[in-house]
Amino acid sequence: MDIQASYPILSTKIGKHPLVYLDNAATTHKPQCVLQAELNYYEKLNSNIHRGAHYLSRMATEEHEAARSAVAQFLHAPSEREIVFTSGTTAGINLVAQVLALSSLIRSGDEILVTTDSHHSNIVPWQMLCQRTGAVLRPIPLTPALTFDMDAYLSMLNARTRIVAAPYISNALGVINPIPEIIAAAKRNNTDTLVLVDGAQSTAHVPVNLSELGCDFYVFSGHKVYAPTGTGVLWGRESLLSSLPPWLGGGEMIKEVSFSGTTYNDLPFKYEAGTPNICGNIVLAAALRYVQEQGISAIDEHEQRLTRMMCEGLNRIGGIDILGPVEGRGALVSIVVPGVHHYDLGTLLDQMGVAVRTGHHCCQPLMQYLGITGTTRYSFALYNTAEEVERALACTERALNMLR
Ligand code: PLP
Repeated sequence: MDIQASYPILSTKIGKHPLVYLDNAATTHKPQCVLQAELNYYEKLNSNIHRGAHYLSRMATEEHEAARSAVAQFLHAPSEREIVFTSGTTAGINLVAQVLALSSLIRSGDEILVTTDSHHSNIVPWQMLCQRTGAVLRPIPLTPALTFDMDAYLSMLNARTRIVAAPYISNALGVINPIPEIIAAAKRNNTDTLVLVDGAQSTAHVPVNLSELGCDFYVFSGHKVYAPTGTGVLWGRESLLSSLPPWLGGGEMIKEVSFSGTTYNDLPFKYEAGTPNICGNIVLAAALRYVQEQGISAIDEHEQRLTRMMCEGLNRIGGIDILGPVEGRGALVSIVVPGVHHYDLGTLLDQMGVAVRTGHHCCQPLMQYLGITGTTRYSFALYNTAEEVERALACTERALNMLR
C-alpha cells in the first residue's frame, strides 16, 4: 500500500520539487484517518463533556474517556486513571515540576539530575523548581562518543538525589538513552528517587510498556505521533499522582466547592482543570490506533533501515560529522559539516524540496557542551521511503559541493 497517499500534505511541491519531509522530530504529518477523526468530531459529536445531560454531551464524554483508555492501552499503563491529558511534553513536565514544588517532597539541597542531551523543556521547569525549593540541578555528562555516561551517572547518585529526568531518545543527537538501566540505578540508589522519562521522541518510534519500565512519570506530545498540536499525555504512577497536590484550579478538578473550601476530584480529573482539548484528545486516540495498525515494531524496523541508509550515505559523501554512534540511535541523524553553517545547508536543501531542521533544536546546553552553534537534522517517520533518503543524500551532496 502507498502509505504516502494517505497523507495529503506529502503531495506538496516546493517550487518544482516534490517535498521530502525529514523534519518529523519537530512534528509529524497527519494521515487521512486522523484528519477524518477531527472532522467527524465537529460534524457529529461536538459538545462539552462530563456535565451534560443531553445526547451529544454523553456521546462526546464516552468518546473522550474511550480515548483515555486507548492511550492507556497504547502505553501499557496499569490504569487509565494515570493518564492525564495535557497540551504536550512541555506541559507535562511543567505540571510535574510545579506540583512537586508545591509538595513537601523536594527540599533545599536536594538534587535533580538531567541528561546533558535534554531538550529545554526537560531543563527549564526543573530550574524553576530549584529556584522555588533550593534544590540543585546537576547535568549528567556524555561519554566522548556522545552517549549517556553511565559511570558518571552512578557516581552522581547519592542520598540527596530526588529526581532523575531523561529523554528516552535525544532530539538533537538521536541517541537512545539506556532508560531501563537509568531507572533501575535510580531506584537502587533510593526507592523514593523519582524518574521522569521524556517520551517526545520515543512514543512514535519504539514500543513503550509502562507496566514494565519502572519510571514514575512519562510524557509525550501528540503532534509527534501523527496527532494534532496541543495534545499530549502525562502518565504518572497512581500512588504518586493521588498523593501529590493539585495544580491548576477550576472546573472539572473539583468534587465540591464552597466559599469555605474545596475538595478535589479523583484521578485523572484532579489534573485536568477546565474544558479539555476534547476533539484533540479523541483524535490523539485515533492517531495511536493508526500507529498500532501499522505496528510499532514494524515502524521501528523501517525507520532503522532509513536511518542506517542515511548514515552510510553521509559517510560516503565524506567530510561530515555524524553526532553520536550509528548504532543505538532513534529515527534521526544530526550532522555537523566543518566549514559549513547548518543554516546555509538547510536553506539550500529547502530550495531542493528537502525539509530538515537546523539550529540548536532547543538544546542550547548540549550545543554549549559540544562547542557548536547547531546541527542539521534529518528525522524520519513511518511514511518516509528509501527513495526519499536517496534524494536527501543526493541533494546534501549537491548543496555541500556548492558550500565548500
Ligand atoms: N522533549 C523532546 C525530546 C523534544 O524533542 C521536544 C520537542 O521537540 C520536546 C520535549 C517538547 O515538545 P513540545 O514542544 O511538543 O511540548
